[in-house]
Amino acid sequence: MGSTSVVAEAAAKLAASFKGQVLQPADSGYEDARKVHNGLVDKRPALIARCHGVSDVVAALDLARKLGIEVAVRGGGHNVAGRATIDGGVMIDLSPMRAVGVDAKRKTARAQGGATWADLNPATQEHSLAVTGGVVSATGIGGLTLGGGIGWLMGKYGLALDNLRAIELVTADGKVLQVDKQSEPDLFWALRGGGGNFGIATNFEFDLHAVGPTVVGGPIVHPIEHASDTLRFFRDATQSLADEQILFAALTHAPDGSGTPVAAMVTCHCGPLAEAERAVQSIRQFGTPMVDGVGAVAYEQLNTALDASFPKGALSYWKSHFLTELSDGAIETMIDCFARCPTPMGQFLIEHLHGAVTRVGVSETAFPHRKEGYNFLILAQWTDHADTTACIEWARETAKLMQPFFAAGRYVNYLDDDETGDPVRAAYGLNYRRLQQIKAQYDPTNVFRMNQNIRPLA
Ligand SMILES: Cc1cc2nc3c(=O)[nH]c(=O)nc-3n(C[C@H](O)[C@H](O)[C@H](O)COP(=O)(O)OP(=O)(O)OC[C@H]3O[C@@H](n4cnc5c(N)ncnc54)[C@H](O)[C@@H]3O)c2cc1C
Repeated sequence: MGSTSVVAEAAAKLAASFKGQVLQPADSGYEDARKVHNGLVDKRPALIARCHGVSDVVAALDLARKLGIEVAVRGGGHNVAGRATIDGGVMIDLSPMRAVGVDAKRKTARAQGGATWADLNPATQEHSLAVTGGVVSATGIGGLTLGGGIGWLMGKYGLALDNLRAIELVTADGKVLQVDKQSEPDLFWALRGGGGNFGIATNFEFDLHAVGPTVVGGPIVHPIEHASDTLRFFRDATQSLADEQILFAALTHAPDGSGTPVAAMVTCHCGPLAEAERAVQSIRQFGTPMVDGVGAVAYEQLNTALDASFPKGALSYWKSHFLTELSDGAIETMIDCFARCPTPMGQFLIEHLHGAVTRVGVSETAFPHRKEGYNFLILAQWTDHADTTACIEWARETAKLMQPFFAAGRYVNYLDDDETGDPVRAAYGLNYRRLQQIKAQYDPTNVFRMNQNIRPLA
């Protein structure tokens, strides 16, 4: 890192033409700006460049290059591994860049690189349109889309990245490229799954689809004593879902603060309402739920329903793996492990992937996880630093005990920062080598390495 006075001098020069704000550690606003979603991440950048447009992004990148210091790029700041920030480097903060424009006639939307789903969903829903997005609205469209994009609409419309038309990208050498299938086919392929490895996405253009404004969805909650039956029912129900319906399961805690452990399912059906009501009947009729929150709901509202369970600043540690299958053994092991959960904010989530997301070829985009099946997430979340060791140990121990049920693939967007082995190579499988080649072409010196890093092919 350059000395403090060199950085200060460079920051002053940058600020002269910068449209946004350049923050150093002593500046007011710095403490707030350096925070990301995960309260466990406590990094102190030498500079935070809060960009207001593409020229700010180019200038901030140029400054980092001249100073010879590392960069991190912040979209929504939700990455659990804290890849949006960096000790002693430049945080290129896109969070002031959140403008969204919808072309209802063409059914497309453009969103700046720092927008969140809370910015994009309401804008598209004004026209009863939507694109697959994250299930928690504060998540950035940037990191989520570049790494994949699992959400309520993926059975019908694929992942967020399957709906990309184009990206405006600032590359490692400061060029601004319009990237789409025709103009930069290799780069466009790599951006759809390769995360922040290839540049800074300042604008995304998505295809939109007719959705809502009312869909049928919500949670259905059973006593934890019925967890085994609930998860078996979930497994059976996921065998015959229509593309329009997504069903996830969770072992979690009642959101009323009582700490009561529960087994839950949560669903969304984006098809015609009568059809959707019929499709969710069997889920609603199973067992004797403590809470049946499934019903007609605004799509926009469903996408904020889980927000309160993931408050900003909570301490988080995640593990996630695809499962080979949701076997009885996997179910019983999960239930045993959940019984030892040391935090009332901890949960296991099982995401089921099917439909459109699985009809894209493994190598059609960089995102290779195209098989119907289950992704298992261990979501340790707590608020008291005194609980950190117990919560992290629980997550690690669970991952160890669940290991026999794990498939090889990993979803990059859920990786934490202490993974062993080579999780990024494992995450991309057969696509990793092509990604390395494209990385060598567009970022040979690995400027963009504060991410789930793809090493440029030597
Ligand atoms: C509470 C919660 C809910 C989630 N729900 C979902 C979900 O429903 N579906 C799902 O698929 N994932 C989900 N995720 C995971 C999410 O996809 C990742 O955390 C993702 O990295 C978040 O993107 P972000 O822009 O908010 O993150 P950031 O932390 O800002 O960035 C993450 C990575 O992406 C890079 N990046 C971000 N924006 C850009 C950009 N514009 N250009 C270039 N690089 C960029 C960053 O440099 C960093 O490496 C969730 C995460 C959390 C914490």
